[in-house]
Amino acid sequence: MTGFFYHDLFIKHLENYNHVERPQRLEAIHRRIKKSPIRKELKFIEAEPADLAWIERVHEPDYVAGIMALKIDSAIVLDWGDTVATPATPQAALHAAGAGVQAVRMVMAGELTSAFCAVRPPGHHAENRRAMGFCLFNNVAIAAADLIAEAELTRVAIVDWDIHHGNGTERTFADNKHVLYISMHQYPHYPGTGDAAMTGKGEGTGYTLNISMGADAGDDAYRQAFTEHILPALDDFKPEFILISAGFDAHADDPLSDTEVSSAFFGEMTRMIKETAARHCHGRIVSFLEGGYDLDALAESVEEHLKALVE
Ligand SMILES: [Zn+2]
Repeated sequence: MTGFFYHDLFIKHLENYNHVERPQRLEAIHRRIKKSPIRKELKFIEAEPADLAWIERVHEPDYVAGIMALKIDSAIVLDWGDTVATPATPQAALHAAGAGVQAVRMVMAGELTSAFCAVRPPGHHAENRRAMGFCLFNNVAIAAADLIAEAELTRVAIVDWDIHHGNGTERTFADNKHVLYISMHQYPHYPGTGDAAMTGKGEGTGYTLNISMGADAGDDAYRQAFTEHILPALDDFKPEFILISAGFDAHADDPLSDTEVSSAFFGEMTRMIKETAARHCHGRIVSFLEGGYDLDALAESVEEHLKALVE
Protein backbone atom coordinates (compact mmCIF):
# COMPACT_ATOMS: atom_id res chain seq x y z
CA MET A 1 0.00 0.00 0.00
CA THR A 2 1.23 3.49 -0.84
CA GLY A 3 0.65 6.22 1.73
CA PHE A 4 -0.54 9.71 0.81
CA PHE A 5 0.29 12.14 3.62
CA TYR A 6 -1.76 15.32 3.87
CA HIS A 7 -2.89 17.94 6.37
CA ASP A 8 -5.21 20.97 6.16
CA LEU A 9 -2.35 23.11 7.44
CA PHE A 10 -0.46 22.44 4.20
CA ILE A 11 -3.26 24.31 2.40
CA LYS A 12 -3.46 27.10 4.98
CA HIS A 13 0.23 28.04 4.52
CA LEU A 14 0.26 31.31 2.48
CA GLU A 15 -3.54 31.43 2.37
CA ASN A 16 -4.70 34.84 1.10
CA TYR A 17 -1.20 35.81 0.07
CA ASN A 18 -0.14 36.33 -3.53
CA HIS A 19 2.68 33.86 -4.15
CA VAL A 20 3.62 31.36 -6.85
CA GLU A 21 3.99 28.60 -4.21
CA ARG A 22 0.29 28.81 -3.41
CA PRO A 23 -2.34 26.66 -1.65
CA GLN A 24 -4.09 26.05 -4.98
CA ARG A 25 -1.19 23.72 -5.89
CA LEU A 26 -2.34 21.20 -3.30
CA GLU A 27 -6.01 21.79 -4.03
CA ALA A 28 -5.36 20.91 -7.68
CA ILE A 29 -3.54 17.73 -6.65
CA HIS A 30 -6.32 16.68 -4.26
CA ARG A 31 -9.03 17.35 -6.87
CA ARG A 32 -7.20 15.25 -9.44
CA ILE A 33 -6.49 12.32 -7.09
CA LYS A 34 -10.07 12.24 -5.81
CA LYS A 35 -11.30 11.70 -9.38
CA SER A 36 -8.59 9.16 -10.24
CA PRO A 37 -9.02 5.38 -9.96
CA ILE A 38 -5.71 5.27 -8.08
CA ARG A 39 -7.35 6.81 -5.02
CA LYS A 40 -8.44 3.29 -4.04
CA GLU A 41 -4.82 2.15 -4.03
CA LEU A 42 -3.74 4.91 -1.65
CA LYS A 43 -3.89 5.05 2.11
CA PHE A 44 -4.65 8.65 3.10
CA ILE A 45 -2.86 9.57 6.32
CA GLU A 46 -3.15 12.87 8.17
CA ALA A 47 0.36 14.00 9.07
CA GLU A 48 1.41 14.35 12.69
CA PRO A 49 3.68 17.13 13.93
CA ALA A 50 7.40 16.43 14.09
CA ASP A 51 9.23 16.37 17.39
CA LEU A 52 11.57 19.35 17.45
CA ALA A 53 14.44 16.93 18.11
CA TRP A 54 13.88 15.32 14.68
CA ILE A 55 14.16 18.69 12.97
CA GLU A 56 17.21 19.59 15.06
CA ARG A 57 19.18 16.74 13.46
CA VAL A 58 19.29 18.98 10.37
CA HIS A 59 18.66 22.54 11.60
CA GLU A 60 20.17 24.57 14.47
CA PRO A 61 17.93 24.54 17.57
CA ASP A 62 17.82 28.34 17.74
CA TYR A 63 16.68 28.51 14.11
CA VAL A 64 13.95 25.92 14.76
CA ALA A 65 12.84 27.71 17.93
CA GLY A 66 12.80 31.02 16.04
CA ILE A 67 10.46 29.64 13.37
CA MET A 68 8.14 28.04 15.93
CA ALA A 69 7.99 31.25 17.98
CA LEU A 70 7.07 33.51 15.05
CA LYS A 71 4.10 35.72 15.83
CA ILE A 72 2.53 36.53 12.49
CA ASP A 73 -0.46 38.83 11.98
CA SER A 74 -0.80 38.50 8.22
CA ALA A 75 2.50 37.73 6.51
CA ILE A 76 6.23 38.20 7.01
CA VAL A 77 9.19 37.70 4.71
CA LEU A 78 11.77 35.32 6.15
CA ASP A 79 14.68 35.88 3.79
CA TRP A 80 15.53 38.35 1.06
CA GLY A 81 12.18 38.13 -0.60
CA ASP A 82 10.84 34.80 -1.75
CA THR A 83 10.17 32.87 1.45
CA VAL A 84 7.09 34.08 3.25
CA ALA A 85 5.27 32.95 6.39
CA THR A 86 1.61 33.48 7.25
CA PRO A 87 -0.11 32.57 10.57
CA ALA A 88 -0.42 28.85 9.70
CA THR A 89 3.15 28.52 8.46
CA PRO A 90 5.07 27.40 11.59
CA GLN A 91 2.60 24.58 12.30
CA ALA A 92 2.42 23.67 8.59
CA ALA A 93 6.22 23.38 8.50
CA LEU A 94 6.19 21.30 11.69
CA HIS A 95 3.66 18.88 10.21
CA ALA A 96 5.44 18.76 6.81
CA ALA A 97 8.59 17.60 8.59
CA GLY A 98 6.49 15.20 10.65
CA ALA A 99 4.88 13.67 7.55
CA GLY A 100 8.24 12.61 6.17
CA VAL A 101 9.44 11.00 9.39
CA GLN A 102 6.11 9.26 9.90
CA ALA A 103 6.23 8.00 6.29
CA VAL A 104 9.74 6.55 6.45
CA ARG A 105 9.02 4.91 9.81
CA MET A 106 5.83 3.29 8.47
CA VAL A 107 7.68 2.01 5.40
CA MET A 108 10.49 0.63 7.58
CA ALA A 109 7.88 -1.09 9.76
CA GLY A 110 6.29 -2.68 6.68
CA GLU A 111 2.99 -0.83 7.21
CA LEU A 112 3.39 0.89 3.82
CA THR A 113 5.43 -0.11 0.78
CA SER A 114 5.97 3.49 -0.29
CA ALA A 115 4.55 6.95 0.36
CA PHE A 116 4.08 10.40 -1.13
CA CYS A 117 4.11 13.41 1.19
CA ALA A 118 1.85 16.08 -0.32
CA VAL A 119 3.38 18.80 1.83
CA ARG A 120 3.76 22.58 1.85
CA PRO A 121 6.01 24.35 2.60
CA PRO A 122 8.55 22.41 0.51
CA GLY A 123 12.01 21.74 1.89
CA HIS A 124 15.04 21.17 -0.32
CA HIS A 125 16.38 24.75 -0.33
CA ALA A 126 16.22 25.14 3.48
CA GLU A 127 19.68 25.20 5.01
CA ASN A 128 20.93 24.50 8.49
CA ARG A 129 19.91 27.92 9.81
CA ARG A 130 18.28 29.62 6.87
CA ALA A 131 14.87 29.66 5.21
CA MET A 132 15.23 29.96 1.46
CA GLY A 133 13.43 29.35 -1.83
CA PHE A 134 9.95 28.94 -0.25
CA CYS A 135 11.42 26.35 2.19
CA LEU A 136 11.64 26.50 6.02
CA PHE A 137 12.53 23.00 7.22
CA ASN A 138 14.26 20.53 4.92
CA ASN A 139 11.66 17.74 4.97
CA VAL A 140 13.60 15.20 2.89
CA ALA A 141 16.83 15.75 4.85
CA ILE A 142 14.98 15.37 8.15
CA ALA A 143 13.56 12.04 6.96
CA ALA A 144 17.00 10.84 5.83
CA ALA A 145 18.49 11.83 9.18
CA ASP A 146 15.75 9.88 10.95
CA LEU A 147 16.48 6.75 8.91
CA ILE A 148 20.13 6.99 9.95
CA ALA A 149 19.46 7.81 13.62
CA GLU A 150 16.46 5.58 14.35
CA ALA A 151 16.51 2.75 11.80
CA GLU A 152 20.34 2.78 11.85
CA LEU A 153 20.58 2.66 8.08
CA THR A 154 23.99 3.41 6.60
CA ARG A 155 23.02 3.95 2.94
CA VAL A 156 20.16 6.34 2.19
CA ALA A 157 19.80 7.72 -1.35
CA ILE A 158 18.02 10.96 -2.20
CA VAL A 159 17.04 11.56 -5.84
CA ASP A 160 16.07 15.20 -6.40
CA TRP A 161 14.40 15.79 -9.77
CA ASP A 162 13.05 19.27 -8.94
CA ILE A 163 14.26 21.67 -11.64
CA HIS A 164 16.15 23.66 -8.99
CA HIS A 165 19.24 22.38 -7.21
CA GLY A 166 18.56 21.29 -3.63
CA ASN A 167 21.28 23.39 -2.04
CA GLY A 168 20.00 22.73 1.48
CA THR A 169 19.99 18.96 1.09
CA GLU A 170 23.42 18.95 -0.57
CA ARG A 171 24.89 21.04 2.23
CA THR A 172 23.34 18.93 4.96
CA PHE A 173 24.97 15.74 3.71
CA ALA A 174 28.00 16.98 1.69
CA ASP A 175 30.48 15.39 4.12
CA ASN A 176 28.31 12.33 4.90
CA LYS A 177 29.04 9.05 3.14
CA HIS A 178 25.81 7.51 4.41
CA VAL A 179 23.66 9.69 2.18
CA LEU A 180 24.02 9.67 -1.60
CA TYR A 181 22.51 12.91 -2.90
CA ILE A 182 21.69 12.95 -6.61
CA SER A 183 20.24 16.11 -8.11
CA MET A 184 19.28 16.76 -11.72
CA HIS A 185 18.53 20.42 -12.33
CA GLN A 186 18.57 23.18 -14.89
CA TYR A 187 22.01 24.76 -14.60
CA PRO A 188 22.84 27.58 -14.36
CA HIS A 189 19.56 28.52 -12.68
CA TYR A 190 18.23 29.37 -9.20
CA PRO A 191 19.77 28.98 -6.59
CA GLY A 192 23.13 29.01 -8.40
CA THR A 193 24.60 25.92 -6.71
CA GLY A 194 24.73 22.42 -8.22
CA ASP A 195 27.91 22.51 -10.29
CA ALA A 196 28.78 19.00 -11.48
CA ALA A 197 32.27 19.53 -10.06
CA MET A 198 30.80 19.43 -6.53
CA THR A 199 30.93 15.74 -5.58
CA GLY A 200 30.98 16.03 -1.78
CA LYS A 201 33.51 16.86 0.91
CA GLY A 202 35.81 14.86 3.19
CA GLU A 203 34.32 11.45 3.94
CA GLY A 204 31.36 12.35 1.76
CA THR A 205 33.45 12.82 -1.39
CA GLY A 206 31.83 10.82 -4.16
CA TYR A 207 28.43 10.82 -2.46
CA THR A 208 27.05 13.94 -4.17
CA LEU A 209 26.12 13.71 -7.85
CA ASN A 210 25.01 16.90 -9.60
CA ILE A 211 23.66 16.52 -13.12
CA SER A 212 23.24 19.71 -15.14
CA MET A 213 20.30 19.68 -17.49
CA GLY A 214 20.24 22.13 -20.37
CA ALA A 215 17.44 24.67 -20.62
CA ASP A 216 16.00 22.73 -23.57
CA ALA A 217 16.12 19.29 -21.88
CA GLY A 218 13.09 17.09 -22.41
CA ASP A 219 12.17 13.46 -21.77
CA ASP A 220 15.02 12.09 -23.94
CA ALA A 221 17.72 14.05 -22.13
CA TYR A 222 16.25 13.11 -18.76
CA ARG A 223 16.03 9.42 -19.75
CA GLN A 224 19.67 9.52 -20.83
CA ALA A 225 20.71 11.10 -17.52
CA PHE A 226 18.93 8.28 -15.71
CA THR A 227 20.36 5.40 -17.72
CA GLU A 228 23.91 6.79 -17.95
CA HIS A 229 24.37 8.37 -14.53
CA ILE A 230 21.59 8.04 -11.97
CA LEU A 231 20.73 4.35 -12.17
CA PRO A 232 24.39 3.20 -12.24
CA ALA A 233 25.17 5.46 -9.26
CA LEU A 234 22.24 3.99 -7.31
CA ASP A 235 23.28 0.43 -8.20
CA ASP A 236 26.86 1.13 -7.00
CA PHE A 237 25.59 2.63 -3.73
CA LYS A 238 23.06 -0.14 -3.03
CA PRO A 239 20.65 2.04 -1.07
CA GLU A 240 18.67 0.69 1.87
CA PHE A 241 16.03 3.36 1.26
CA ILE A 242 15.34 5.82 -1.57
CA LEU A 243 13.86 9.26 -0.93
CA ILE A 244 12.70 11.47 -3.78
CA SER A 245 12.60 15.27 -3.75
CA ALA A 246 9.73 15.30 -6.20
CA GLY A 247 9.43 18.73 -7.69
CA PHE A 248 7.36 18.85 -10.86
CA ASP A 249 8.72 22.16 -12.15
CA ALA A 250 10.81 20.58 -14.94
CA HIS A 251 7.47 20.22 -16.74
CA ALA A 252 7.16 21.82 -20.18
CA ASP A 253 4.30 24.05 -18.96
CA ASP A 254 5.99 25.22 -15.76
CA PRO A 255 6.50 28.98 -15.51
CA LEU A 256 9.68 28.67 -13.40
CA SER A 257 11.78 26.61 -15.81
CA ASP A 258 12.63 26.27 -19.48
CA THR A 259 12.87 22.46 -19.61
CA GLU A 260 10.35 20.36 -21.53
CA VAL A 261 9.56 17.28 -19.45
CA SER A 262 6.13 15.66 -20.06
CA SER A 263 3.66 14.63 -17.36
CA ALA A 264 4.01 10.96 -18.33
CA PHE A 265 7.76 11.12 -17.85
CA PHE A 266 7.35 11.71 -14.11
CA GLY A 267 5.77 8.25 -14.09
CA GLU A 268 8.66 6.84 -16.09
CA MET A 269 11.26 8.28 -13.69
CA THR A 270 9.28 6.84 -10.79
CA ARG A 271 9.27 3.38 -12.43
CA MET A 272 13.02 3.48 -12.98
CA ILE A 273 13.60 4.36 -9.33
CA LYS A 274 11.08 1.76 -8.24
CA GLU A 275 12.88 -1.01 -10.15
CA THR A 276 16.12 0.07 -8.49
CA ALA A 277 14.47 0.11 -5.06
CA ALA A 278 13.09 -3.38 -5.70
CA ARG A 279 16.62 -4.63 -6.44
CA HIS A 280 18.23 -3.12 -3.37
CA CYS A 281 15.76 -2.25 -0.63
CA HIS A 282 12.43 -4.09 -0.86
CA GLY A 283 11.02 -1.20 -2.91
CA ARG A 284 11.23 1.31 -0.06
CA ILE A 285 10.51 4.77 -1.49
CA VAL A 286 9.17 7.95 0.11
CA SER A 287 8.73 11.03 -2.06
CA PHE A 288 8.22 14.65 -1.07
CA LEU A 289 6.42 17.37 -2.97
CA GLU A 290 8.85 20.21 -3.72
CA GLY A 291 8.12 22.57 -6.65
CA GLY A 292 5.69 22.54 -9.57
CA TYR A 293 3.80 25.74 -10.38
CA ASP A 294 1.48 25.16 -13.31
CA LEU A 295 -1.62 23.77 -11.61
CA ASP A 296 -2.79 21.42 -14.39
CA ALA A 297 0.71 20.16 -15.17
CA LEU A 298 1.41 19.65 -11.48
CA ALA A 299 -1.77 17.68 -10.78
CA GLU A 300 -1.35 15.53 -13.88
CA SER A 301 2.33 14.84 -13.13
CA VAL A 302 1.62 13.92 -9.51
CA GLU A 303 -1.02 11.49 -10.71
CA GLU A 304 1.53 9.88 -13.08
CA HIS A 305 4.02 9.65 -10.21
CA LEU A 306 1.45 8.03 -7.92
CA LYS A 307 0.21 5.65 -10.63
CA ALA A 308 3.75 4.35 -10.95
CA LEU A 309 4.15 4.05 -7.17
CA VAL A 310 0.96 2.04 -6.67
CA GLU A 311 1.15 -0.31 -9.69
ZN1 LIG B 1 11.91 23.87 -7.85
